[in-house]
Amino acid sequence: VREGRVAVVGGGIFGVTAAHLVASTGAEVHLFEALDDILQGASGINQYRLHRGYHYPRSDSTAIASKESEASFRSLYGEAVMKVGEHLYGIAARDSKTSPKAFERFCERIGLSFEPCDSEVVRSEAIASLYKVEENLIDLTRLRDLCHRLMERSGVELHLNTPVMPTDLNEFDLVVNATYAGLNRLLPVQERRHYQFEICEKPVVRFPTSLRDMSVVILDGPFMCVDPLGDTGRSVLGNVVHAIHHTNVGEEPEVPDELQSLLNRGVVPDPPVTNYPLFLEAASEFLVGIEEAEHVGSMFTVRTVLPDVDATDERPTFVHRIDERMVTLFSGKIGTCVEAAQSVVGAFDVSRADRPAGAQGRSSV
Ligand SMILES: Cc1cc2nc3c(=O)[nH]c(=O)nc-3n(C[C@H](O)[C@H](O)[C@H](O)COP(=O)(O)OP(=O)(O)OC[C@H]3O[C@@H](n4cnc5c(N)ncnc54)[C@H](O)[C@@H]3O)c2cc1C
Repeated sequence: VREGRVAVVGGGIFGVTAAHLVASTGAEVHLFEALDDILQGASGINQYRLHRGYHYPRSDSTAIASKESEASFRSLYGEAVMKVGEHLYGIAARDSKTSPKAFERFCERIGLSFEPCDSEVVRSEAIASLYKVEENLIDLTRLRDLCHRLMERSGVELHLNTPVMPTDLNEFDLVVNATYAGLNRLLPVQERRHYQFEICEKPVVRFPTSLRDMSVVILDGPFMCVDPLGDTGRSVLGNVVHAIHHTNVGEEPEVPDELQSLLNRGVVPDPPVTNYPLFLEAASEFLVGIEEAEHVGSMFTVRTVLPDVDATDERPTFVHRIDERMVTLFSGKIGTCVEAAQSVVGAFDVSRADRPAGAQGRSSV
């Protein structure tokens, strides 16, 4: 990728990482982001878990991809990886799609260490078993800062507040489409795919004491999690059901009018639309002391997943070569962003070496 001008569209962690790695080969790279900073979309609004696999007892492939990609993520972004005081995974006593035995067998199969334990913050009557695990989180502030520094070092030219239309890309020799929920808008009609779009809420809370430095995840099904938000002293709540305000399957996300102005705005204090009371009620089934949480505000964004993966909860990352000029990046888990960016560099090297059309296609990271 040594010559020509490269456009990377989308300043999420996948676009930023691809831009940095492509620019590191000596190419002239322009990164375009519609919002006023990088990592303002899903990469800035999520549960911040650097997945090692524990979360995916129904998808060995996602668990393995998470586990195997961690080292490459750390090699670039290790400075932004944070350890929490205690990281617990509980198997719900009712309605769980996994059992303690199945979860333990899964961990052994994938090579994930775990230690059965008790905790005074988790209601023992609500869970079938509880495990202490080794898994980490991502500090968003440090990650964003690091991304800016890396791009400066590799010479990526960053264009913020710059939404890109397909015709804007004509002047570029190579294009990386890393727009996540917006992938189809930059593609020719015949290349568009259906995705499941979920308009999600992430409430941010402040805990008085006990839960402040803890991550707790309840598996496996319609349950909850709580994780510290960097070193802000705040935490983020997750709930598989109540996080989702609207879902559609199609080429583009449908955003209900009342949520439009809330999307990708960071923490919105006192949001006019919120499921926070439902998050709280569901969490109080599992956590002691959750009712003392203070709701600081909520974050809203679009999650994009493959349709029809509810049974496995699979979250693959794909690098898809559309033609000689364009590669799309569809992201599953954040930890795979460096491997995906390496595949992008590889895909462009293939196209420049004038390989036959058979080299075109999808690769799973
Ligand atoms: C609620 C939620 C919780 C999650 N929890 C986790 C988790 O704990 N761990 C994990 O690993 N993953 C998690 N994920 C998934 C993960 O956040 C995403 O897979 C990843 O962040 C997406 O990164 P991205 O760079 O592909 O997309 P984004 O971060 O969304 O970046 C795409 C960017 O493209 C920009 N854009 C779009 N169209 C255009 C255009 N035409 N012109 C210019 N710019 C454009 C957007 O503004 C956006 O900034 C979660 C996702 C959500 C939504």
